This record gives sequence, structure tokens and C-alpha cells, in this order.
Amino acid sequence: MQRILAGLHRFQRDVFPAKKALFESLCDGQAPYALFITCGDSRIVPSLLTQTPPGELFLSRQVGNIVPPHGTLYGGVSSTIEYAVGVLRVRHAIICGHTNCGAMTAILHPETVEDFPNTRRWLANAEVARQLVNARCPNGTEEERIEMVTRENVRIQLMHLETHPVVAVAVAQGALQLHGWVYHLETGQVDAYNPVTKEFAPITFDEPDADEPGAADLAISEISGMFEEASR
Ligand SMILES: [Zn+2]
Repeated sequence: MQRILAGLHRFQRDVFPAKKALFESLCDGQAPYALFITCGDSRIVPSLLTQTPPGELFLSRQVGNIVPPHGTLYGGVSSTIEYAVGVLRVRHAIICGHTNCGAMTAILHPETVEDFPNTRRWLANAEVARQLVNARCPNGTEEERIEMVTRENVRIQLMHLETHPVVAVAVAQGALQLHGWVYHLETGQVDAYNPVTKEFAPITFDEPDADEPGAADLAISEISGMFEEASR
């Protein structure tokens, strides 16, 4: 605990005063740019990964970055989605899975969580991903099967996300874009799901051309389309 308290002390002594104006401006309310749904894994730090300051990402974190379909479970995830999309009107929703995810291993081997009834039921929301991997990759190595279930789970949870009425309406109105990511712990690479090719591919970042007048501060990724400059 000492390490956490020392960190809090450094934050209050060094970080907060240095960014006082930002923190004060955030007291007036929040207008986050994206809903970021990811695993509770301690190795995923969304604001570090996306280099976003406080106030830009509305977070929903749970084991296996799972989104139960609408109508199956009324609780934290569904109300977080409704608040972020319906009230705060985020423009993007990102479901971010990751490599070396213990939940993905548990999805493939449900017997390992038999003694954890909540986890077993929670991971049942990824049952489609498990069966797809078993059908498509029955003889693959454990590593190949884990990779596949990680991607399939993101894809399935994106579909679940769109069953939530507030999401479906916002997408239909062109007010919300959905994105599926897989973050590679070992390299920092992020693969994004392309709904056209139905494949995951690394997100590419095109450096803006400094000589070009009006070059954007942030280049645009064709796949995710989420790096467009915020005009809000
Ligand atoms: Zn995880």
C-alpha cells in the first residue's frame, strides 16, 4: 500500500499543480470523445495506450472486455453504455481486447473456472467465440486458438454492443462509430477489426506531411477512422 500512497502524494505534489488548469476545467463537466471498453487486466492502461488526457475516455472495464447483449443483464456495463452514448454522446465506442488475456484461456477451457460461478456465467457471454474457434481451428496449437478467440471475442462483443438500443440508434444516426481492437502486450501494436474484410489488421498511422498546408495534427487511420480530429 505504501507504493500507492507514495504515488498519490507525488500526484498531489507534482502532477496536479502542473496541470491545475486542466483539472479545474474538468470540474465543469465532462465531454469524453470515446467509450473505451476493455479488460480489467492491470497491464492495459487506456489513457497511456491512446495518450489521452483526463476527460477524453469514458471507461468500462471488466473481465474479458465483454458486453452482454441487451436484455440479458441489467447492470454496470449496460448502464455505462447508456450513459456514455445516450447522455454524454461519445462519438466512438472501442472494444479493446488484448493478447495474453487470462479470460480468453478460460473461455476456451471453461472447466478451469468451474469453482468461480460468477466468472463462468460471465464468460458464457463469449460462448459463440469458443464454439467458432473449436469449429474453425480444432487442431490448432493453444497459441493459435487463443489468438483466434481473442479476435473472435472482440468481434462478437461488437455485435452485442449494437444490440443495445441506444447504440443502435446512435449508429443509425451516424453519431457513433464502433471499433474493435486487439492490443499486443508484447509489442504495443494494436490491430483493428475491418468490418469490410472481416479481418484484423494493424492500425497504421500516417505521419502528417509538414510541408502540406493545413496538415492535420493527427493522421487518419482508414480502418478505425477514429483519429479524425475532434471538432467538439
Ligand atoms: Zn484480459
